Amino acid sequence: MLKEFANQNVKELVEGLNFAEKVDRALTLIEAAWKKYGERLVVANSLGKDSVVIWDLAKRVSPDIPGFIVTTRYKPAETVRFMHEQVARYPELRVFRNEVEIPEELYKTDPDRCCDLLKVEPTRQAVDEMNVACWVTGLRCTEGRTRTDFQEVEERDAGLVKLNPVLIWYEREIWQYLAVYQVPVNPLYARGYRSLGCAPCTHISQGADERAGRWIGTSKCGGECGIHTRPLKTAASRS
Ligand code: SF4
Repeated sequence: MLKEFANQNVKELVEGLNFAEKVDRALTLIEAAWKKYGERLVVANSLGKDSVVIWDLAKRVSPDIPGFIVTTRYKPAETVRFMHEQVARYPELRVFRNEVEIPEELYKTDPDRCCDLLKVEPTRQAVDEMNVACWVTGLRCTEGRTRTDFQEVEERDAGLVKLNPVLIWYEREIWQYLAVYQVPVNPLYARGYRSLGCAPCTHISQGADERAGRWIGTSKCGGECGIHTRPLKTAASRS
């Protein structure tokens, strides 16, 4: 069943399906993965708008689907408050955070290293500790230049399937879902942010590229923290 979702013409799906069809497709995808992987199906919840849609869809499939949040010392206060609200409501959301000592303002001098330590490492830890076989993300192919080359189901990392159930949704359809199903979002969106991350690396931006406000002034501008591009399976979790 899940195989049917791999190697699709993603562009055709983005343009060809309407909102309701996309919601049905996402639910079907999560349901199929839940049947196949059970509690080894885990949602990665970044607390951004796409993630809260994914989380809501997953909870519609089964309240038992587990999830994890990766947070850092640099998250804005609003995001931290929103995280505490979400965890209080959904205790099945585990929080991972890397407390390692790092040079001051590493986000300025080497943002790739900073993201690697503070975001990618705890994601690896979550995958490992939660014994994840299939992780679910809120990645969307219309979100920016770095997100066009993905599939709804993929296995870039041997032994770790990735499910991207809202891959084919427009930004507008994410907001449509949040409004129609009255899903609470991070209050920072009301201030004009379109893509959320750590405070020093996230700015309010306008224009076609939704992620243009990320890592402004660095080589990473509009780019990725690495959790979607770097291997997540450690040697230990592979064996
Ligand atoms: S987003 Fe910025 S502060 Fe956060 S981990 Fe990456 S470089 Fe560091």
